[in-house]
Amino acid sequence: MVETSSARAQTPQADIGVIGGSGFYSFLDDVTEISLETPYGRPSDSVFLGEIAGRRVAFLPRHGRKHHLPPHRINYRANVWALRTLGIRQILGPCAVGGLRQEFGPGTLVVPDQLVDRTKSRVQTFYDGETLSDGSIPNVAHLSFADPYCPTGRAAAVAAARGRDWEPVDGGTLVVVEGPRFSTRAESLWHAAQGWSVVGMTGHPEAVLARELGLCYSTLALVTDLDAGAETGAGVSHDEVLRVFAENVERLRTVLFDAVAALPERNARDCLCSKALDGLDTGIELP
Ligand SMILES: [Zn+2]
Repeated sequence: MVETSSARAQTPQADIGVIGGSGFYSFLDDVTEISLETPYGRPSDSVFLGEIAGRRVAFLPRHGRKHHLPPHRINYRANVWALRTLGIRQILGPCAVGGLRQEFGPGTLVVPDQLVDRTKSRVQTFYDGETLSDGSIPNVAHLSFADPYCPTGRAAAVAAARGRDWEPVDGGTLVVVEGPRFSTRAESLWHAAQGWSVVGMTGHPEAVLARELGLCYSTLALVTDLDAGAETGAGVSHDEVLRVFAENVERLRTVLFDAVAALPERNARDCLCSKALDGLDTGIELP
């Protein structure tokens, strides 16, 4: 079933959002597909509503269900805004990453606590003073982003992985590059020399846009390969990334669902993300 709605305030339909691949929801029963429009354009795809452990969860395939959107062409603002219109206040954003250390080989699960932005062409704010299609004008606003991930969401992800005997790397830095190409050896060695842990292409601006809407956001980063500077072979290949992701998607899904079940209720949040907009005049009405 496909429903179409405009992405403005409406009755909450879900309280947790998952931005990730179609492998996370495709086998769920009773999935409702909703097509959404936002003041920022269309999200990557329809949103798929389902239920996990009594929680209503909305899945959004980040690259589109046919994986047709490269990281730099994803409409991150529309994706995050659309989830908020459904009533969502907490987002988990699993992603595939490259390991920057020998010990972070394929199959390692990292729950980072820091992020470095090395993207180049992406809009990374809602508060840029540009008039929206509905006539409202957002104010310029500067939010704290010292701690980019929700501590509650991170703790839920770490505990969920441990509960499934998959000891995660608790903390570390995800560096986000523009892509779609992988890093050169020199770039990769430089990233590693900074002490950063893993490298990906989608973790930013997803995280900051969630923060700008007062949403909780955390990620589960699955290492699919050693990045060019950390391995000694021919470098990263796309096929290898897809193969390792496919091998691990089932246990990642299990951990993700356990984390969803452990998140607080929508109105019981008590983290820095829930207070991110306190005292701030953004100039736009949030859905
Ligand atoms: Zn939070």
